[in-house]
Parts: sequence; C-alpha cells; structure tokens
Amino acid sequence: MADSSGNPGPSAGAAERSPRSSGPVSKERVAIVTGAARGIGAATAVRLAADGYAVGVIDLAEESGKETVDKIVSAGGRAVAVGADVSDRAQVEAAVARVASELGPVAALVNNAGVIRDNMLFKMTDDDWDTVMNVHLKGAFLMCRAVQSQMVEQKFGRIVNLSSSSALGNRGQANYSAAKAGLQGFTKTLALELGKFGVTANAVAPGFIVTDMTAATAERMGVDFETFQQAATERIAVRRVGRPEDVAALVVYLLSDRAREGGVTGQVYTIAGAKLAVWAQPRELRAAYASGGWSAEKIAEFLPGSVGTDPMPMLTQVAAMEKAARGGERPNA
Ligand code: NAP
Repeated sequence: MADSSGNPGPSAGAAERSPRSSGPVSKERVAIVTGAARGIGAATAVRLAADGYAVGVIDLAEESGKETVDKIVSAGGRAVAVGADVSDRAQVEAAVARVASELGPVAALVNNAGVIRDNMLFKMTDDDWDTVMNVHLKGAFLMCRAVQSQMVEQKFGRIVNLSSSSALGNRGQANYSAAKAGLQGFTKTLALELGKFGVTANAVAPGFIVTDMTAATAERMGVDFETFQQAATERIAVRRVGRPEDVAALVVYLLSDRAREGGVTGQVYTIAGAKLAVWAQPRELRAAYASGGWSAEKIAEFLPGSVGTDPMPMLTQVAAMEKAARGGERPNA
C-alpha cells in the first residue's frame, strides 16, 4: 500500500529499510508531530525519522507538510503529511486515524503546533485570546485524548508538549504565557493519569529559537531579526543562538527508553542555545497556620513577616532594565 505521499504503507517494516536507526529506538514506532511543516516541528519530525520513527506530519494544510515528508522519505524513512487544525476535534480525530491506518498505532506525540497573537492586555482582542488558547491548549488536549487509547493499548507512550520560557510571564503575551503555563499543568496531569500504562509526559519550554515565529515577533517590535537574535543571546551565559535542531534533540531524548528508565516524566526542560535546564516543580514555599482560620486582618498582620513573597525574576529584571534606561545606560549595547 502506498500513502498519498508515495510512501510504502505499514506492511513495509523497519527490517526492509536501510539501517538508519542509530538512535534510541530499538524497533520502529510511530510518532505524530503537530505544526511539523516548519520551524521546531519540522526539525523534530526529521530528527525522529532519523532515529527510527515513522512520522505523522500534521499541519494546517496537508500541502505544507509535504516538504518535511519529502526530506524524511528521501533519507529512507516513512512519513505521511496530514492537514488538520489541531483546535478542531473532528479534524484531529480524522488525522490521528489516518496516521494510524497509514503508518501504524501511534506511540509518541509531540504537541508543537503554535501561533502567537501578541499584544498588550488593553489592546488584546477576544480573538487574540481564543486563537492562542485553542491552538496551544485545546489543541494539545484534543491530540492527547485522540491518541491515548492507542498508547494505553500498546502499554507504551511518549508525550511531549511544547511550553515556553514565556510561561514565566512576558510583556505582550498574556494569552501565550497563560497557554504555555497551562500546558505545564496539563503535562503533569498526563504524567499522573497515564504513567501506569507506560506513558510518559514531559514539557519542553524553549527559550529563544530562530524560527518564523521569532522572526514575526521581531517584525512586530520593529527590530531587525539579526539584532533581535543578538539581544536574545546576550541573556544567555554562553552566547549561542537556539536552533530548532536543539529542541529536536531534547525531544528525541524525552521519547527514548533511557528517559523512561531514568524516571523522566512530569518534567519541564528548557533548552536555549547552549543552555539545558530543568524547572523546579511548583511547590509551596512557606506556610503559616491559624487554628481558628484566617481573617483578612490576620492575614495582613502575619503574611508580610511569615509567609511573605517569592520575588518574581521577570519583575526584578524589568525593574533593573527600567532603572538602567532611566540612568541612560545601555547594558546590552
Ligand atoms: P512556527 O515556525 O511558527 O511553526 C508553527 C507551525 O504550527 C506552523 O507550521 C503552523 O502552520 C503550525 N500551526 C499553527 N496553527 C496550527 C493549527 N491550528 N493546527 C495545526 N498546525 C498549526 O513556530 P516555532 O517557532 O517552530 O514554534 C513551535 C512551537 O514551539 C510552538 O508551540 C511555539 O509556541 C513553541 N516555542 C517556540 C519558541 C521559539 O523561540 N521559536 C520558543 C518557545 C516555544 P502555518 O505555517 O500554516 O501557520
């Protein structure tokens, strides 16, 4: 059987293909990458195929995923391009069914499809909010729900959700930062619910990565993309700009048996240029107890000296930048 991309169907197993699986996959498994027509998704799809996965390349239009599929097929891999809007339940279910029928049951899912609709809160429209929530959050939910039964059946599954360092808060991204923070909570719940079925779930929260998305951000801010990239690397100790292939490498690891054996699930990792970092699990920092319960007056009296606050790094950074600007300094010049 040949699919619409001219690939052999599921009957052509790994043994019939050239030995290209130098990666962590001992037998061919099927992965879906959403938003895989370009940027991080395309790099991830190509890398997963090089590591022995057959890849469902999902993007808004089937046509736009063809380039990624061609790259995979010309390197000896198997892939199919499927057009679907990840925020639409019927399209998601049809896309997952098509990947399963053309490549085999889905064992790995990378929820990567994304959009930005940046604006300061007072200018952000309902549509800006809904679009970002629907693609990132609802899209990841619909995709996970559609594939989970196939993973449970195989007693094997790997889910990676693309979060962002913007989950910490970022000016002009109330919608995007809420969605990306939401994806972290979603990931932890998946790890809890699906762990007993051999499924791991992790989030990758990249810092600045050179793609069309960051080029669009630079354009919106009226900054030349080269200058924008330089400014981004200046915030990293080792000045190396992040590339889609860096994220792909981390995703490959998170999908591997080695990661599962190491108990890697429910985690959030940042990759940004030269940096690879794990995020702390959100946890209570300090607590106080009042046997008779808390009144507003009691809280106002006790909170400042006991429970206190935990300084927000982005606020501290913004305050330092504003102070530098007031003083006429240009620390990044
Ligand atoms: P990108 O270059 O803009 O690519 C995003 C892809 O997603 C595009 O192919 C786009 O298709 C597709 N897409 C958008 N809406 C979709 C939908 N409803 N259904 C299916 N596909 C859809 O973005 P990127 O920079 O590679 O980012 C990939 C992911 O990483 C995103 O989730 C992003 O938020 C996250 N991330 C990126 C960075 C960064 O610095 N680049 C940092 C942190 C996190 P069209 O081309 O047709 O629109």
